[in-house]
Amino acid sequence: MEQTLVIVKPDAVANGLLGEVIRRFEAEDLTVCGLKMVWLSQKEAEGFYQVHQHQPFFQSLTHFMISGPCVAMVLEGEEAIRRVRTLMGATDPLKAAEGTLRRSFATSIEKNVVHGSDSAASATFEIPYFFSRLEILPKVGRGEIS
Ligand code: ATP
Ligand code: MG
Repeated sequence: MEQTLVIVKPDAVANGLLGEVIRRFEAEDLTVCGLKMVWLSQKEAEGFYQVHQHQPFFQSLTHFMISGPCVAMVLEGEEAIRRVRTLMGATDPLKAAEGTLRRSFATSIEKNVVHGSDSAASATFEIPYFFSRLEILPKVGRGEIS
């Protein structure tokens, strides 16, 4: 089992797509094991996307990410990192495959609905950026409750 960090970005939350985004992941057997709504500060957005700090789109990206609330989730499943990225589609919606979230709902290369960790190393940084250990309830843990 693998865990990955997903963010439903402010454009998708504002456009009423939260349920549909979660539905698509659940339909592919990815389990939500942590979830919260957050409105990032400028510093928090900059810290999260620090790998892009020298990119020309960095300022615009962080401005977009603080434009409204987003929803952060930890998704768990076999090869969750790779499979979430496939369901998201390419960064640019014009290049995203048919049936992907970004192809369906993104309105630009920036306002592209969803973030997903791009590697195990990224997930290791990104999951604790949003969630404490107590806020993540892995599937194995749930089986023990009853
Ligand atoms: P994410 O990291 O959000 O999952 P990604 O891995 O597909 O997306 P990155 O290259 O990591 O793409 O870029 C991070 C985000 O920055 C993109 O999702 C998009 O919102 C924004 N972005 C990327 N490239 C551009 C660009 N050329 N112009 C404007 N915004 C961009
Ligand atoms: Mg990325």
